[in-house]
Amino acid sequence: MSEITEVLVDEATLKARIKEMGEAITKDYEGKTLLLVGVLKGAVIFLSELAQRIKLPATFDFMAVSSYGSSTESSGVVRILKDLEESLEGRHVLIVEDIIDTGLTLDYLYRHLKSRHPASLNICTLLDKPSRRKVNVPVKDIGFEIPDRFVVGYGLDYNEMYRNLPYIAVVRP
Ligand code: 5GP
Repeated sequence: MSEITEVLVDEATLKARIKEMGEAITKDYEGKTLLLVGVLKGAVIFLSELAQRIKLPATFDFMAVSSYGSSTESSGVVRILKDLEESLEGRHVLIVEDIIDTGLTLDYLYRHLKSRHPASLNICTLLDKPSRRKVNVPVKDIGFEIPDRFVVGYGLDYNEMYRNLPYIAVVRP
């Protein structure tokens, strides 16, 4: 069993910040069509909220990756479980992530997608744990910096549970 011990970011705060992020992205990509690339499954809820706050023509595509290692530690060796369906050639691509921890997963994804010749490639994440970073990844938009705690909710899971919580919480395994 596990239990929620603390709410770290409540629902209203999440929604307000995501609205701001959407407005910033709308300005940054003015006149362009965006391809939002969501990383399954964690980024799904953030992507669906963010996409509605971006006032630009946009399409979605999804990737699923698995990082070898234990469920709470990333190893940096990333396997693509589901690849994108669309070509990135000449597109303005924004990778949408739930959380950056060590940065190893995104470092791999960023380099991998860059090799497909997008017109531009940026990263946007809902949460960031800067104290845990092992590699420097070029993140353009960050929702919230959080301390080194294992969090769930708003797409993030613990053993596949808690993804549907409408807030970010700390869980005690
Ligand atoms: P990184 O490669 O940056 O270390 O790890 C990124 C991935 O690790 C995230 O996409 C997420 O799947 C997982 N992860 C890292 N920290 C947490 C956390 O606090 N909670 C949950 N649920 N997943 C996390």
